[in-house]
Order: sequence, then structure tokens, then C-alpha cells
Amino acid sequence: MSYFAGITELPPDPLFGLKARYVADSRTDKVDLGIGAYRDNNGKPWILPAVKLAEAKLVSSPDYNHEYLSISGFEPFLKQASKVILGENSAALAENRVVSQQSLSGTGALHVAGVLLKEFYTGEKTVYLSKPTWANHNQIFTSIGFKVASYPYWDNDTKSLDLKGFLSTIRTAPAGSIFLLHACAHNPTGLDPSQDEWKQVLKELEAKKHLVLFDSAYQGFASGDLDKDAYAIRYAIDQKVISTPIIICQSFAKNVGMYGERVGAIHVIPSTQKDEQLGRALKSQLNRIIRSEISNPPAYGAKIVSTILNDRALRQQWEADLVTMSSRIHKMRLKLKELLTNLHTPGTWDHIVNQTGMFSFTGLSPDMVARLEKVHGIYLVSSGRASVAGLNDGNVEKVANAIDEVVRF
Ligand code: PMP
Repeated sequence: MSYFAGITELPPDPLFGLKARYVADSRTDKVDLGIGAYRDNNGKPWILPAVKLAEAKLVSSPDYNHEYLSISGFEPFLKQASKVILGENSAALAENRVVSQQSLSGTGALHVAGVLLKEFYTGEKTVYLSKPTWANHNQIFTSIGFKVASYPYWDNDTKSLDLKGFLSTIRTAPAGSIFLLHACAHNPTGLDPSQDEWKQVLKELEAKKHLVLFDSAYQGFASGDLDKDAYAIRYAIDQKVISTPIIICQSFAKNVGMYGERVGAIHVIPSTQKDEQLGRALKSQLNRIIRSEISNPPAYGAKIVSTILNDRALRQQWEADLVTMSSRIHKMRLKLKELLTNLHTPGTWDHIVNQTGMFSFTGLSPDMVARLEKVHGIYLVSSGRASVAGLNDGNVEKVANAIDEVVRF
């Protein structure tokens, strides 16, 4: 008799499966353009200088220990994290309208948002995701029991935003649906709405009273500027453009390079008016969810980020580190495009430099991607998304030549 009726083995996760194949590949000139993690110009993981300094400061502090955090998380971290995303002068913060809870990075924040909404949201329980989107979005919300739908985002012909399709789905979706928006550096396309396009999108969302769920996993990676990358969120909240609740899922995995430490937060802004009772109720429910799932959030990463954010010099160093990362990636975009142009590789490659953040949606077909892996030892996901952070001065020519070969094959 089986105690696990109907259980079947699943294929490996596409991204982590890709990583495993890359690790198993014995070619010395292999290239990993798969996972979205920053690499330096030698292709090595990079501990941000701000993080190194914060670690030294933290461990030498007489208060340093490994005690449990409270259920809400590390308060000095939460306070600063909310300012990073909402702005130093946020009226919502000043008016105490923001309910914050530390989470297991961005994924944990999305999960907690889903659990909260599943239980209490009175609107339409369908989550609209951009097409395409980060693969895990689908899984996070369906596993909680949500219906998932999509809104057009990427126009493959023009390699630009399908604004018409996006707006039209906002208009036709049942009122009060949940719309998940990538706050910046859209994964996988690297394509963000312009400020004017954001205004149109948010206006239509408000007209249908949809709930806006911002996923902010790359703040600082699009422009190198934390404030600019929070434009859509701050416009929606500061201008009170959105009257329905707003939820922000904030990750520090990428912008502080603390991938494995799982540093993040969920911020809920339930109303444009102050409602203390609702705020307290939400806080207590978020606490209950966290308590039942992880008891209390992990401390180390939150303390590092808090050390950075609460120290003027370290904060400046972090902002410089963000520029180091985003500008190196941008340089690689320019280089790759230049090389492909010089090779007269069939197709247009302007989109590589027009896209922002860590990724480029190259437009390469699944067959081309498979050939890149098999023949050239270059690994990227089958959608054609390449993590530009995996390029460096030592491999970009090889990658350009290989792309040229597979496109012509
Ligand atoms: N949202 C998006 C769009 C992402 O790309 C990622 C990471 N790849 C996340 C959320 C979550 O990342 P993490 O859980 O590592 O913070």
C-alpha cells in the first residue's frame, strides 16, 4: 500500500536544473548566463564592500549575538527597509499607514502576501501576472490556491512593451482582481514601462479598483539609483493614485548581494487614510502567518542590511556598490551589442542595450539556446533570457561569436 497516493517525480526546477548542468560541464570556458546573481568582471560572486564593512562592524559590536528576532523581524531593519522603498519623506510612513513584516526574502514576502490575501481579501481572487514573468510567481500563487491569469507585457515583434494589451487586460479583468507588477528591472524581459506608461497603467488599475501587488526584487539595478527605481511605487502611494490596498514585496537578495541570507520584507498599505485598528489587525495576522510558518525571521542578513542602512558612510558605500554593479552590467550590454553588430549577426540587437536590470530577453529561440549549451557551453534559460551579469571582459567575445553561430545555423 502506498502512503503517498498519486505522487509522481517532477522534473528539476528549470533554473536550478540549468545550474546543475552547468556545474557538471567539464569545459573550462563554459559560461553561466542562467541564474540572476551578480558576478564581477572575473565571473566570481561579489561580496559588496558595504557588506564586508557592515559584517566587520556587526560582529565586533558588544551586542552581537544569535538570539531569536521578534516575530515581526528586526525592527531597525524594517524601519529603514520601508524608507528605502517608500522614500525618506513618505507621507504614508509619517502617517503610520504602513504595516511591515520581515520575510524570507522576496519569495517569502510573496508567499505571505498570498496567504494573507487568500484568507482575507474580499475582491476577486485571481492573480494577474505579466506574460512572461519570473517562473516562480505562478507556482507561489497556484500552490496557495489562487487562480492565475496573465496580462500581455512583451511584444515579441517589436521587442517592446505591449502597452495596449496590458491596458486592455486591466480593463477587462473582473473588478478587484490582484495585479502583480514588477516594480523595476522586469524579470525576464529587462523592460520597464516609462514613467508616462506607469501613469497610464496605474490609472487604469485604479479605475477597476484592482489590488496592486508590487514585486520589488531589483531596486537599484535598473538605473543604479534607488529612488528612480521606486518611481512606480512612490507615484502610486504618494499621489494617492491607487485607493485600494497596496502590497509591496521587497527583496534585498540582489541589491545587497545577500542572496542566500534571505533578507526581505512585506509592506502593506491598507488604505489612503489612517486606520489604526485595521493596521493593528493586519500586523497581528502577518505575525500569526510568520509564527506558524517560520516562527521568526532569520537575523543575520537583516542585521547586516540594517547596519548598512543605519550608518551614513556604509549607506553611501552601498549606493556606490549599486552603481558599480549596474554600470558593469550596462557596459556588458554595450559590448555584446557592439560585437554582434560588428559580426553582422542577423537580427536587431538594440533591445540588449535598451533593457535594464540583470537580464536581457535576447530573442534567441529555444533551439538556439539548446545549441548554445550543447556546442558552446553557454547556459541560459530556454526562453532566451540571459543574465547579463554573467558576462565579463573575458567571455563576452566568445558569447557574441557563439550567438552569431547559432543564429546562422
Ligand atoms: N521576484 C522576482 C521578479 C525575482 O526575479 C526574484 C528572484 N529571482 C524574486 C522575486 C525573489 O527573490 P528572492 O526570494 O531571492 O528575494
